[in-house]
Amino acid sequence: MGKLALGVAVGVAVATCAVAGVVVGRRLRSRRKWRRVVGVLRELEESCETPVGRLKQVVDAMAVEMHAGLASEGGSKLKMLLTFVDRLPNGLDFLASNLICCPRFVVCFCVVCVVLFVNLLFGFVVRSEIGTYYALDLGGTNFRVLRVQLGGTRSSILSKDVKRQRIPQHLMTSTSEDLFDFITSKLKQFVEQEETVSEAAQSRTRELGFTFSFPVKQISIRSGFLIRWTKGFAIEDMIGCEIIERLQAALMKKGLDMCATVLVNDTVGILALGHYYDADTVAAVKIGTGTNACYMERADAIIKCQGLLTSSGAMVVNMEWGNFWSSHLPRTTYDIEMDMESPNPNDQGFEKMISGMYLGDIFRRVLLRMCEESDVFGPVSSKLLIPFVLEMPLMAAMHEDDTPDLKVVAAILREKLEIQDVPLKARRLVVKVCDVVTRRAARLAAAGIVGILKKIGRDGTGGITGSRSRSDAKMRRTVVAVEGSLYTSYMMFREYLHEALNEILGEDVAQHVVLRTTEDGSCVGAALLAALHSSSSSSSEGLHRRR
Ligand code: ADP
Ligand code: MG
Repeated sequence: MGKLALGVAVGVAVATCAVAGVVVGRRLRSRRKWRRVVGVLRELEESCETPVGRLKQVVDAMAVEMHAGLASEGGSKLKMLLTFVDRLPNGLDFLASNLICCPRFVVCFCVVCVVLFVNLLFGFVVRSEIGTYYALDLGGTNFRVLRVQLGGTRSSILSKDVKRQRIPQHLMTSTSEDLFDFITSKLKQFVEQEETVSEAAQSRTRELGFTFSFPVKQISIRSGFLIRWTKGFAIEDMIGCEIIERLQAALMKKGLDMCATVLVNDTVGILALGHYYDADTVAAVKIGTGTNACYMERADAIIKCQGLLTSSGAMVVNMEWGNFWSSHLPRTTYDIEMDMESPNPNDQGFEKMISGMYLGDIFRRVLLRMCEESDVFGPVSSKLLIPFVLEMPLMAAMHEDDTPDLKVVAAILREKLEIQDVPLKARRLVVKVCDVVTRRAARLAAAGIVGILKKIGRDGTGGITGSRSRSDAKMRRTVVAVEGSLYTSYMMFREYLHEALNEILGEDVAQHVVLRTTEDGSCVGAALLAALHSSSSSSSEGLHRRR
């Protein structure tokens, strides 16, 4: 009896030990798996680090590359393209902002009167910024058609009508004929539905600005040749072609009596609109599907185009900063893989770290790696293998999920990526991944902006040579117009960008730098420039060069 009891007791003890062993083993395994997932995050954090010292190196590299791109054709990955925009629209707010900002009211008023008188004399402002103008904006996720009614110098935009539409995916890789047929047919519909346009406006040829946001070699304000596609577009027969000729031919085919007066990049439109509202605007940045920037440069600093004569002594330069590259940029294995698998490897390196088209895919790659390392997220979802499956607005929504149990994250993982029943602590990890990817992007964008300010001597350090010390460099109010959904609709992105800007510049200097959001600048600005360079206005075709 005693032996039996002992046997049972030993049996129970062995069984208990075995069960305990299994449980402990499972726990250990699961802890190991969790540690592996956290390890993926830690590795990501380390390789995405952007301490202010590194950002300052990026600033310097940006300013140096800008110099190199202006010195010679092909001197840098930054193309620093001439735009032939040598003056920017000025509205009534130009007067207002000067009068409000300057304490010496009377002096300022006199200066403004003189400026106005000169403008009147040359017919720059009054004659050209009046009437109804159109714009077509092609270059990102959305295509826009716009009509604005301009009241002239003493008033701003009387009315604005914009129609947005997504570009059908197949047209991005089709033929130029298909693409231009599509955009001109939308324009035709838009014009046919007009009600408010005066008879006078209808009786004359309608003028439009064409915003074409790809690298273009311009030879005048109304003529340019496509260098290459970016942002997922790939229409072979367009490369090297004159863009306005294509557009004009398509307009004619549709029987539209319209004339494309200017060809501009979206950032140039944003700068034009920014300047229309605030004359201290010196640069414009777009952070949407792709990213780019432009700024007003002294003509004599554009060394690669010697003897460039402009009416203002300056010209807007389209940097095509998406193609910026520097060894100081914090690059991860995910960036390298994404780049290698992209249709444009080794190009648009900066854009691939910053803009809406790519951030969602960096996130996807990190999550895929986490799923491969462990089953914290369950079996690997086949959705995670699809490139670009997660769009930026969804990633932003997960990042900004403020529900206590991260419901939004759970829903997006379930519905978009088919990853079910993710535990809360793993959902927190997902938010952290979004944070790391977005924070790096926003901080690099801030460094890019300071790079421009450094190049034009507005960063408080005395410019690229750094010849003056911070204390004796007098800071002028400096406005940068910013557009693009990442900046305008993604609060965390914007906050990180502002934070980095303050860190790099220091508070004393940062207080003089204003980032101003404009709306629809890519097309409204193009229409303003079309007005400024209207065929009925003077001196619109004066500036050009041989191809
Ligand atoms: P464009 O396509 O001309 O660049 P936008 O500035 O509107 O125009 O940018 C659209 C891009 O911005 C989309 O491709 C998407 O990646 C991103 N995006 C759109 N909405 C949001 C959002 N709420 N949060 C973050 N990114 C967004
Ligand atoms: Mg666009």
